[in-house]
Amino acid sequence: MRASCDAILAFGTCGVYGGPQGSGYAHAQSELAETAFVKNPTTSTHFVPDQGVPKLLEEGVLPLDAAITVDLYLPGCPPHAYYVFEALRSVLDGKPPEFGEHNVCFHCDRAMKHTEVAALRRVHEGTLEKETCFLSQGILCMGSATLDRCRGACPTRGMPCSGCGGPSEAIVLEPNRDIRTEIATRMSMMTKIPKAKITSEIEKQAKTYYAYAMASPVFREKPTFLLRRWIAQQGAAR
Ligand code: SF4
Ligand code: SF4
Repeated sequence: MRASCDAILAFGTCGVYGGPQGSGYAHAQSELAETAFVKNPTTSTHFVPDQGVPKLLEEGVLPLDAAITVDLYLPGCPPHAYYVFEALRSVLDGKPPEFGEHNVCFHCDRAMKHTEVAALRRVHEGTLEKETCFLSQGILCMGSATLDRCRGACPTRGMPCSGCGGPSEAIVLEPNRDIRTEIATRMSMMTKIPKAKITSEIEKQAKTYYAYAMASPVFREKPTFLLRRWIAQQGAAR
């Protein structure tokens, strides 16, 4: 493909960052194979096949640019039509597209405000205020650390952002900025929930909150290199 194409576009968060499959990064290959073929109640294999199936790559799931040179990146799950059009137009015009400078909050009308909320909760617990930021209500929302490629699709429809657009410009470009500290700092400033409590909750659920880009060097080179340890600790605590 690379040899026969003028331009290659990594389309969607899986192409750009490896996608949710990257959570395999937190496990040994033998564990993944055992879970898929032996311990899985929906399969009847009961053994790990070694014939007729490709071997798992040593390095696991990779973003597209780990294998070939990529000309254009378009994260999003899926990217909004607005950005698809913008990307294709930039290819046709031979100009670089504008890097996404906004996070998801940019297109969200919910107001960030100080509250007396003292505990984290899930979106299905209790009553929600429609016009207030989820963070102010004690609900984790990844909007402020996620690149806007969806024009605020979830928070404008009543659901917190889970980060499927991939990390925001600030997270990608600045080595010491990380999702958990970014969200925990913002949320603890607006509520009475201690920052350490929020950080710890995100670490406990690392495979949810880092779901889309675990395979990417963007995260592996950050303090998030501890992802494997967090996930192992979570398994041990169960
Ligand atoms: S954190 Fe979430 S709810 Fe709050 S403004 Fe950003 S996108 Fe909206
Ligand atoms: S709001 Fe967040 S989870 Fe929803 S589509 Fe946008 S980036 Fe994805």
